[in-house]
Amino acid sequence: MKEGLDILYTLQLKDDQLREIEAVIQEIPLKIKELENERDSRSDMIEKAKKKLQNNSEERKKLEREIVAIRDKIGKYKEQMKKVTTNKEFQGFSSEIKFEEANIVGVEEKIIEKMIESDEIMNGIRDAENEFRKIADAYNQQIKDMLANLDYHKNKLAEEARNKKDLRAKADPKLLKVYDNLFVKKAGKVVSCVQTDFCGVCNIKIRPQILSELVLSDDLMICESCGRILFKKIAAEAEA
Ligand SMILES: [Zn+2]
Repeated sequence: MKEGLDILYTLQLKDDQLREIEAVIQEIPLKIKELENERDSRSDMIEKAKKKLQNNSEERKKLEREIVAIRDKIGKYKEQMKKVTTNKEFQGFSSEIKFEEANIVGVEEKIIEKMIESDEIMNGIRDAENEFRKIADAYNQQIKDMLANLDYHKNKLAEEARNKKDLRAKADPKLLKVYDNLFVKKAGKVVSCVQTDFCGVCNIKIRPQILSELVLSDDLMICESCGRILFKKIAAEAEA
């Protein structure tokens, strides 16, 4: 029985280890997703700047169309001017033309502003793209490392699952049945290793009588508080 308990305790340690590996395997894809989101939010900034550049170009085209329309208008005034009969009418068209020419200057100034803005946006995009390439490389390397780590843990899980199977093959079938039943009820913590005179899981102080039976008796001892199988390493074994 004592030896049987040793195997149960080793099995518990193996199950603990498997649970830890599974937790890592579950966690890594979440971390990768976080990194991908961070990386992509950086490229979103570039996309926004490109959109801004596109708006700028559309605004410029609109201003250029305005100039064409104004020139058209001026052309028409000039045609009409040829047909005028009075000086007053002539003056009227002349001042309209001057007004529209001044308008063209105003619109041209706006176009120049837009061109300057466009240069600034393009510089910004170029800087952001260079920056992004560096950042993306770093992110991609980190993601690659994490995927390698994920592979490592998946292999480790398979290996330890095989070791667990071997352990179970060595265990007393009756003890194994008790272990498996408790495993479900006790959230995977079945065997409590007793340090000095406390239950290793619930930390309750164990009565001296049970403690001595734990060492002397071959019976399966259960923690009176948490219901787990108590296991105590004998001194020589603990030292080893
Ligand atoms: Zn306990």
